[in-house]
Amino acid sequence: MQFSHLLITFLAQLGVISLTLTLCSLIRDRVQGDLTVARKLASGILFGATAALLMHMPGELIDGFRFDLRIVPIAVVGLISGPIGAAVAAGIASASRIWLGGAGAALGLVGIWLAFAVATIGYLFVKRGFNRTPDVVVFSALSAGIAFLVLFLIPPSIRLQISQENAHYVLLFLNFLATLISGFFVRIDSLRRENAKLNALHRQIVSALPDALSVKDLEGRFLIANEATARLMGAADSADMVGKSDFDYYKPEEAAELWRQEQAFIERRNPVVLEQQFDRHGQTVWLSTIKAPYFDEAGNLRGIVSHTSDVTSQKLIQAELLSAQVLLETAMAEMADGLAMFDRECRLVMWNSRYLEFFPYVDNETCRGRTLAELLTAGVLRGQIRIPPDVSPLSWVDDEVERSQSAAASELVLNDGRSVSKTTRVLGDGGWVTLYSDISEKKAAVTQLERFASKDGLTDLANRRIFDKQLVEIFQSCRKASSELSLLMIDVDHFKAYNDTYGHPAGDEVLREVARVLQQACRTELDLVARYGGEEFAVILPRSSEEEAHAIAGRLAAGVRMLDIPHLSSPKGRVTVSIGIGTLAQNMSDPQHLLRKCDEALYAAKAAGRDKVRAASEAEALPFP
Ligand code: GH3
Ligand code: MG
Ligand code: MG
Repeated sequence: MQFSHLLITFLAQLGVISLTLTLCSLIRDRVQGDLTVARKLASGILFGATAALLMHMPGELIDGFRFDLRIVPIAVVGLISGPIGAAVAAGIASASRIWLGGAGAALGLVGIWLAFAVATIGYLFVKRGFNRTPDVVVFSALSAGIAFLVLFLIPPSIRLQISQENAHYVLLFLNFLATLISGFFVRIDSLRRENAKLNALHRQIVSALPDALSVKDLEGRFLIANEATARLMGAADSADMVGKSDFDYYKPEEAAELWRQEQAFIERRNPVVLEQQFDRHGQTVWLSTIKAPYFDEAGNLRGIVSHTSDVTSQKLIQAELLSAQVLLETAMAEMADGLAMFDRECRLVMWNSRYLEFFPYVDNETCRGRTLAELLTAGVLRGQIRIPPDVSPLSWVDDEVERSQSAAASELVLNDGRSVSKTTRVLGDGGWVTLYSDISEKKAAVTQLERFASKDGLTDLANRRIFDKQLVEIFQSCRKASSELSLLMIDVDHFKAYNDTYGHPAGDEVLREVARVLQQACRTELDLVARYGGEEFAVILPRSSEEEAHAIAGRLAAGVRMLDIPHLSSPKGRVTVSIGIGTLAQNMSDPQHLLRKCDEALYAAKAAGRDKVRAASEAEALPFP
């Protein structure tokens, strides 16, 4: 056994195997896509041919016993193209072995097909991953084991000679080593290919990214830039950008600003987010950039990774939203009415400053999320919201919460006398919005209007309209209750003559004076004193008999007399009144009847010489003209 000869044979055979593996790797780099059956067959042919070639260039292990590494390509092709490739390789190797002939042909074939079996096992390893060193070692040991098995089949004389020279170990070792080298080659080659695929994918992703992605070195020169960066910077091609800096693309002052920011960033080394505004072809562009440090494997800072996206449209929307919000807030703040929004749990979620003016006890800082019941209870307990005296605060609050949730309008009265109307709009999600308006002035105007409609402008007494209405109501209720009712008709004597003598304004003043006397002499809460028309007045006296009415009328007439207003055109020398009294009687079915009776009595008083009081019963005694 000559070592130098063995080594040369081994290296030559390994060289052939390596050439095949390299060739296969190069072809696979060129041929994209999956390993189709045709490709598996082609690789089987390549490795089968390699095995055949190895058989044609054997070395001598001991005298008369040749060896070669044919097992290795047959086993290794299993790692690349599985049993199909291995079967083709084994087939070609078998044909070649048979072609060579000789005594060991049968044994050679056994070895070749054992190699096919190992190739199949190797393929199973690959399916599992074949990325661990032990996998390669076990596979190599199996491959080398074939040579060992074959030794058992050779004639004992040769076997004895081999074992005496320890040549079987050499055979085993050479096969093991060659398979191990080839196995690692295949493994590393497949890892390299996977990495290349992954790199290509990353490059694709980066270049297809709509956002600009770039890496710069510490001097601000681009190391990598994607297509979006090229578009952003106005560069013709992303590949052209490598080695250039911002100064090649931006205005000097813009580039200098970016340079300053990047230098500051390099000192701090923390990722930052920058928002910048640029002018591009007369349009404002907003860019948002994330900068992160880029370190090499040794942990040294090598540059900056920048990710830039165009946020102009977001900025525009933001600005629009902001201005809409400002507008809304201004509108809400400037509104004359209070506005509050409650959610479905009756919690306050939004309000304006006018709302707080209505309910000053509500604290602007802490009112958010308070329920309407809580807010109302606070208002009632502090006495700032007035509730009807006969209602408990608790039940009023409950009712008010219910009222507030319905779309019907209602009112609140505040402690300072203000009346607040509430108009509610129910929202789709169960919440609601209420508009609070101060209607105090409106209410005062309505009251005033009602006053004007019911009062006599000159004397401030109830007018004829109210008198007629009240007379009907009181007449009916007294009849129903069978209670007494009297009516006085009062007429100023010789008033036409007074006007003629003293003038109309003086006459007006007399009417006012007489009205005051009548009002003062009557029971405010019970009697109704009205201006019936012209210089005639009427007084409704509920619960008063004719006798009582007579007494009152007498006091009234005396009161006017005691005013002592001079009236030279009257035989009495001063202003006097005549009064007729009517009293409710069984036979009276309507107030007109009572009025008529009263009129008759007044006529009687006049007829009796004026400044007189006459009841209807007294008038009846007189002959009617
Ligand atoms: P008699 O004693 O019979 O009642 O005589 P008289 O003059 O009072 O009666 P007559 O009905 O003839 O006159 C009523 C007068 O009252 C006529 C009218 O000018 C006057 N008069 C009616 N309304 C007003 C008023 O609002 N102001 C003034 N100043 N005078 C009025
Ligand atoms: Mg009259
Ligand atoms: Mg008169």
